[in-house]
Amino acid sequence: DRRKLVVGNWKMNGTRAANDRLLQAILSGWRPLQHVDAAICPPFVYLPQLAETLASSPLIVGAQSLNPRANGAFTGEISGEMLSDCGCHYVIVGHNERRRMQSESDLYVAEQFLAAQESGLTPILCVGESEQAREAGNALDAIGQQLRVVIEAAGLEAFSRAVVAYEPIWAVGTGKTATPEQAQEVHTFIRGQFGAQGNGLVILYGGSVKADNALSLFAEPDIDGALLGGASLNAEEFIAICQSAE
Ligand code: 13P
Repeated sequence: DRRKLVVGNWKMNGTRAANDRLLQAILSGWRPLQHVDAAICPPFVYLPQLAETLASSPLIVGAQSLNPRANGAFTGEISGEMLSDCGCHYVIVGHNERRRMQSESDLYVAEQFLAAQESGLTPILCVGESEQAREAGNALDAIGQQLRVVIEAAGLEAFSRAVVAYEPIWAVGTGKTATPEQAQEVHTFIRGQFGAQGNGLVILYGGSVKADNALSLFAEPDIDGALLGGASLNAEEFIAICQSAE
């Protein structure tokens, strides 16, 4: 039986003061969960703040990206070892905003995935189709290709220490959620790419998840949790979504 996982991706939001308010509101409203892990991925510079504030809480800390190199002359970049050192457990790789705005290729994402595991981090590999791909009936092909490059580089076995997140690009930040049936179809497809290994793989859905649509998504057998953007910046929404995964 797979545990559920809810991850908040704060993206490029926050200040030390605002983070403190948000974290205190989350911690004061938190009720213990038996079947759900919850994590928050803040901007790099706030990782030490979150690691300290959340140290004795059930909330786990993650990062939003990493550079696949170990160290060296890579101005402005952050390595997996640095993230581990700052108390991270998870790291998101292949988010569509980075694939598009930072031109990260499938191969680069595969390198990040491998580097994350080498640093003891659990990668959260994001995949998802564009609106054009969906309308052309090519959604599964596009997702299959994104997965295949990482599977070829890392091997199937590596996915026993990884999470996959399905984020249809047309549903991210748009208020347009995939229907539970649409998401379930893709999650079944993703799980099918991993053979017997797929049974244990945690697959998250991301894209305009809110407290009022989370329950119907989590009711689907292959949706094991959520990757939240906007909803993770609101304590009540975040708590409610974590609770509906229970
Ligand atoms: P929204 O929940 O704001 O649509 O963002 C989803 C996302 O990109 C999480 O990584």
